[in-house]
Amino acid sequence: MTLQRRQILTASMLAWATPWSAFAASATSRQDELVFDGVRLIDGSGGAPQNDMRVLVANGRIAAIGSMQNVGIPHGAQRIAVPQATLLPGLISNHVHLGLYDGLVSGAAAHTPVNILGQLRLYQRYGVTTVAAMGVNTPQVYPMQALVQSGAVTGADFVVAEGGIGTPDGAPPIDMDPSPVVRPINAQQARQAVQDATSRGANYIKLWFDDFQGQQLTKMDPEVYRAAIDETHRQGKRAFVHIYYLEDAKQLLRAGADVLVHGVRDQPIDGEFVTLMKRNNAWYVPALTVEEAFFLFAEQPELLEQPFLRNALHADLRQQFATPQWQQAQLANPALQEWKSRLTQSQRNAKSAVEQGVNVSFGTDSGAMPLRVPGFAEHRELELLVQAGLTPLQALHTATARAAQALELADRGTIAQGQRADLLLVSGNPATNILDTRNIVGVWQAGSRVV
Ligand SMILES: [Zn+2]
Repeated sequence: MTLQRRQILTASMLAWATPWSAFAASATSRQDELVFDGVRLIDGSGGAPQNDMRVLVANGRIAAIGSMQNVGIPHGAQRIAVPQATLLPGLISNHVHLGLYDGLVSGAAAHTPVNILGQLRLYQRYGVTTVAAMGVNTPQVYPMQALVQSGAVTGADFVVAEGGIGTPDGAPPIDMDPSPVVRPINAQQARQAVQDATSRGANYIKLWFDDFQGQQLTKMDPEVYRAAIDETHRQGKRAFVHIYYLEDAKQLLRAGADVLVHGVRDQPIDGEFVTLMKRNNAWYVPALTVEEAFFLFAEQPELLEQPFLRNALHADLRQQFATPQWQQAQLANPALQEWKSRLTQSQRNAKSAVEQGVNVSFGTDSGAMPLRVPGFAEHRELELLVQAGLTPLQALHTATARAAQALELADRGTIAQGQRADLLLVSGNPATNILDTRNIVGVWQAGSRVV
């Protein structure tokens, strides 16, 4: 082991020994019973909003829903009544990355509990109450997951694909040192990697199948992905796959893939693709912001003046985005037109998938690069889905009930009796103006107010 490697490991271990007290849930935010009164309710099921509703929360769950005449207010319950407010389920993302970057810094220095919990709190403040961390995490996240899920520390709830399965000399091009990504070279190693991850506690298995366009990386051997997906199913888990090209998506679907965590971006989806998606009962995550993030902040630096973006940014990123030289370099990038045409193709495919009855859910790949800003990206994704031709209610449906279904989380994604009280209260009506999801009045996680 080199001296440098030893120093990184030591720094990493010290970081993981950090006390959790700074993230302990505050007792004052807990309220056993609360009542949302006179709200416009978008319940996540995809149906039209209902006006003047009363929603009762008890012990972290939805206890009752009805008109103000039909549901009484228990003695001692906290009453929340905000005029012209809309209550929605907390947003759910099927594709984020935790602890890959801290501002512009990556590697072991970013994969720390302080940074990961900071990101989970950022998601939470932006109304994203459940996120799926799609790979490049070490097993050190499991104790943290247990603390978050028990309510001992505050942050968005999260599920994990742990390290994930990649390819030697191939995807993913991002990693850290020491590497949590396993890169099998044959079927036996692929099965072992899946068994190891699930025995440690992985909720899902992630695979990368891509050459990352200009980077010409070797793609995963069919023997490896077929074995990995088959073993994932034998372990009772879902296989989440990174794809870019239509033909790759079809290959992975033929092998049994369950969730495509990116949209198809090279060409229109076709009938065979739709048939395979339906055969597998698979899910499609458009992740439109992935392409737009390359140029958005350089092209629209005025966004920096909006607190909604500014408050989500690490200070180093804020400074980078505000630098004219950086903006000019981004816009002079030879790939600029390619990024834009991919975004257009990706938006057409998202709309087409919905129209053809493919299961569409929600994710952004936020946190995978500094430009993919956690919290902001999720609201921007909703806007891009509407721009693609989905109605605001369809877009919100993907980010609530549909996203929960893709993750097999039956206790959230809708506001219905017995469901977790993961709630987002905004002023205005996102069913008519999707930008109203940004007017956040409050966020509740399992009934506890976090904003
Ligand atoms: Zn990703």
